[in-house]
Amino acid sequence: MIQISQQILDEIRTQALKEIPNEACGYLAGTIQGQLRRAVKRLPLTNVDASPEHFSFSPQEQFSAVKQAREEGLELISVYHSHPVTPARMSQEDIRLANDTSTIYLIYAVEHNDLKGFTIDREKKVSTHPVEVLNASE
Ligand SMILES: [Zn+2]
Repeated sequence: MIQISQQILDEIRTQALKEIPNEACGYLAGTIQGQLRRAVKRLPLTNVDASPEHFSFSPQEQFSAVKQAREEGLELISVYHSHPVTPARMSQEDIRLANDTSTIYLIYAVEHNDLKGFTIDREKKVSTHPVEVLNASE
């Protein structure tokens, strides 16, 4: 399970809308307690591919994000990106480019206003990962 606040989801949506027609991307930093991951903050990164169908991080920004999370005592718990038009599922390109078996890949589908989580194993088998969006009061 990965828990994210409504506020972080709103921030992802705002970033995704701003990047249209391209995909927006970044990390979520937070905590890991057993099977539960809690997102604490969003670390938006530039999609250097500037593409509507795939994304890549800039290595410098990626390094800064890792450093920032570490300094704040947080872990990078998720890699997120947006799908401007298509639904929230791993595309063939997403599966090809996904190589981190320890992260949760979150996909936010802009047109469907839908957020879904996925993991990938060494054989590139995709599994869905439950996502819970929390209201401010929770
Ligand atoms: Zn994708």
